[in-house]
Amino acid sequence: MIVSLKRDADPAFVLRALVSRGLWVSHIEHGTSGGPLHYVIAPHSAAASLDELTAIEGISSVTTAKSTTPLVDRQGPVVEIKGARIGFAPPAFICGPCSVESEEHAHLFASRLAPLGVAFLRGGAYKPRTSPYAFQGHGEVALGWLRRAADAAGMRVITEALSEADVPAVAEHADVIQIGSRNMHNYALLKGVGKTGRPALLKRGMAATLDEWIQAGEHLLASGARSVIFCERGIRSFDDATRNLLDLGAVALLAHVHRFPVIVDPSHGAGRRDLILPLSRAALAAGAAGLMIETHDDPPRALSDGPQAVPLGEMGALIRALRPGGAS
Ligand code: PEP
Ligand code: MN
Repeated sequence: MIVSLKRDADPAFVLRALVSRGLWVSHIEHGTSGGPLHYVIAPHSAAASLDELTAIEGISSVTTAKSTTPLVDRQGPVVEIKGARIGFAPPAFICGPCSVESEEHAHLFASRLAPLGVAFLRGGAYKPRTSPYAFQGHGEVALGWLRRAADAAGMRVITEALSEADVPAVAEHADVIQIGSRNMHNYALLKGVGKTGRPALLKRGMAATLDEWIQAGEHLLASGARSVIFCERGIRSFDDATRNLLDLGAVALLAHVHRFPVIVDPSHGAGRRDLILPLSRAALAAGAAGLMIETHDDPPRALSDGPQAVPLGEMGALIRALRPGGAS
């Protein structure tokens, strides 16, 4: 976006007016007399409308490039799901086990997490596993367990649709449909999820560029999804010290420059529970609007992802530490 100034404009006034609207001025072009001619604003900013910018005293015109992701750009930074907000402070918490293991198990998490202010219950009914011999999830029956547990505790459900065939059942039970990392490029699935009209949580593909990720979000909105929340969960790197490389630069870019609703999943990002607190803090500092954290009442016995699960009994202290003004 290029903002051109009038000859008699007060550049300091215009700059203040832009910055106070949360816009990032990335470049200033000066005229021959030394005064600024143009301010170039980071693209896709949903912070201020064109009419609002043109009305600022001293601005003569505002020029925008045509975006390839107009629906994502227009969405704005806040998404609301059944009265719970994802966007800005306080952070939204999406917590639960990696896999939904039984109905009692789902109720245990909901009853323990809801009093901590966790608005979203997560858990996989359909699990994408590297090995075909690993636990694959209980499937459709687990969707009902999750729904009933969330309803009993006044929570919202986020769960993954692994294939197009799962979409109708997941849409019937979930408030937000999760697209897993391995499926970010599965355009048929994105369209199928979009058609349900449900909000979608779009995990970043483990080797996806930001552009591919954002365009996948556009696929969802273009096919009818009510909203899209981006979730950074780590990308592949050369180093196996952590399960993935949590890309917080991407989070800052999406949150502050693009102003998209973005959350972070430090559980899959790190793959180890001892890094959840510091990575969660870093994620919030980078601009994440929420955190997806895996927990388990008995991590060594978890049917999937035990090493990264925070013990359920430690979730209260973790969440308190992550709230604004939380203990260090
Ligand atoms: C999950 O959140 O349960 C999951 C499988 O995550 P990812 O798609 O990021 O690996
Ligand atoms: Mn998991």
